[in-house]
Amino acid sequence: MDCTEARTRLDAYFDQELDLPNAVAIDQHLVSCPDCRASLAARSALRSSIREHADYRRDAPEGLAERVRARLGSATAAPGRKSGSRWRLPSLAQWLPAGAAAVVAAGISWTAAIQYASPSADQVIAEQVFRGHARSIVTSHLIEVASSDQHSVKPWLSSKLDFSPPVPDLSAAGFELAGGRLDYMDNRPVAALVYRSRQHVINLFVWPADNLGGQHVASKNGYNVVGWSRSGMTFWAISDINAAELRTFAAACANAAYP
Ligand SMILES: [Zn+2]
Repeated sequence: MDCTEARTRLDAYFDQELDLPNAVAIDQHLVSCPDCRASLAARSALRSSIREHADYRRDAPEGLAERVRARLGSATAAPGRKSGSRWRLPSLAQWLPAGAAAVVAAGISWTAAIQYASPSADQVIAEQVFRGHARSIVTSHLIEVASSDQHSVKPWLSSKLDFSPPVPDLSAAGFELAGGRLDYMDNRPVAALVYRSRQHVINLFVWPADNLGGQHVASKNGYNVVGWSRSGMTFWAISDINAAELRTFAAACANAAYP
């Protein structure tokens, strides 16, 4: 895929509207194209800005409630509300004539729709993790450095990334390291560690970011996903092993001593 073709699909990609083969094709293009990555980052910045500034629950300007009540000639103050309290639709409806309330409600619905139509950052990452896993299986591009030795995999990855990824030894928990490769998530190159449990493959994506407040669990099309953060690194594991086994994997990772 070239840039011209990628650009025609970048909006749909960003809105997660592409089917898997097309999304994977864009993913692969993004790995090697800083221009399209920048274009995607600009969309992401715009969405963040809209989220930040179009918050549908906003502090009312100081004194507005009093001015509205005075103009309506109403002596009935909304109970328990004072100026500077947060906008809430039922209170507004009490204060305003029906027509005005409808206009305000329409504005609120619109900004609320922006919020709800936009998946959370974690949902976006979980979707990328799912596609990254599918990409590694579908394209047979699972392992670039094949080794069960963490001391071989880690230096290989460190030499190709701008960070040194932890490569936990999980053999005691029944998860054998098979190797690693470079992948692309969250607008950056990341480490992809590959583990095996019986005949199953587990992809563990790792990159520096400390933005997960707890453990995040998702499942889709028979794949389970678990994400968490530790010591400035974000981890996302995905596999077709069952959810309980994957949580065992995540717990083993979280408790492992890193080289
Ligand atoms: Zn491009």
